[in-house]
Amino acid sequence: MSFPHRHLLGIEQLAPRDIVALLDLAETYVDLSRSRGKHSDALSGLTQINMFFENSTRTQASFELAGQRLGADVMNMAMQASSIKKGETLIDTALTLNAMRPDLLVVRHPHSGAVALLAQKVNCAVLNAGDGRHEHPTQALLDALTIRRAKGRLHRLVIAICGDIAHSRVARSNLLLLGKMENRIRLIGPPTLMPSGIGEFGVEVYDDMREGLKDADVVMMLRLQKERMDGGFIPSEREYFHRYGLDRDKLALAKPDAIVMHPGPMNRGVEIDGTIADDINRSVIQDQVEMGVAVRMAAMDLLARNLRAEAA
Ligand code: ASP
Repeated sequence: MSFPHRHLLGIEQLAPRDIVALLDLAETYVDLSRSRGKHSDALSGLTQINMFFENSTRTQASFELAGQRLGADVMNMAMQASSIKKGETLIDTALTLNAMRPDLLVVRHPHSGAVALLAQKVNCAVLNAGDGRHEHPTQALLDALTIRRAKGRLHRLVIAICGDIAHSRVARSNLLLLGKMENRIRLIGPPTLMPSGIGEFGVEVYDDMREGLKDADVVMMLRLQKERMDGGFIPSEREYFHRYGLDRDKLALAKPDAIVMHPGPMNRGVEIDGTIADDINRSVIQDQVEMGVAVRMAAMDLLARNLRAEAA
């Protein structure tokens, strides 16, 4: 299985065959994670450091568990309390960590491009766990695995990505991945939350949920990223839910077997009705969390194989 990449910085650098290779390996890790033992030694002897400069619950836990299940030594740096607060630059922090000889560095940062910059300064493999509004590759990969398992394929699907597109790295990585796999992508949201010129990317753009959701196979909801907004992008949350929140009436316009996704954390009653999020016949939100661990195991395993091959 070849995966010709030193780092996992974004979906942009991946070819469709890389995506398929990673998802196929992740399938084996779904099985492993469901088994009693749950462990393999694919990363044994390797050190994984998680550096999260932005808050995270599921992504950090997921990477941590993924590393542990594969036998790595896993360390979480508490970046909020670190030297960064004392004025150390990102690069100095990276060089300090690099001297501790990690093999895998998992990084989340509020600035787009910061993870790629860091990757140039260290000797180990770097995985982007989300950089600003730019990319969140493991999220798109776990979404892809969830879709492939639920729909039996990852091509020729009508996929609606809805809500705060402008501030979302999840939307960006998904758009790239699902586009590479030849799906029909619809972006739905208020014009204030739609990046300008996005229509040129071969996607269909809607500001009306009822039109955009028609006959969709997959409905992917996004969180309103209030922390990335510096002004009034929406009139009120109530109004937003009325027009763009996923409720039963709007979902009824999608295909009868359409699945509902959300990367979390969810704002119930803002972008999604809580009863839809909890409806196990439609919502695959918990599957996404499960697939997250398997995809991260696969990503770290593939990068570690390359490190080992390089060292041999
Ligand atoms: N957890 C995802 C991210 O880190 C989605 C979100 O925060 O809304 O981008």
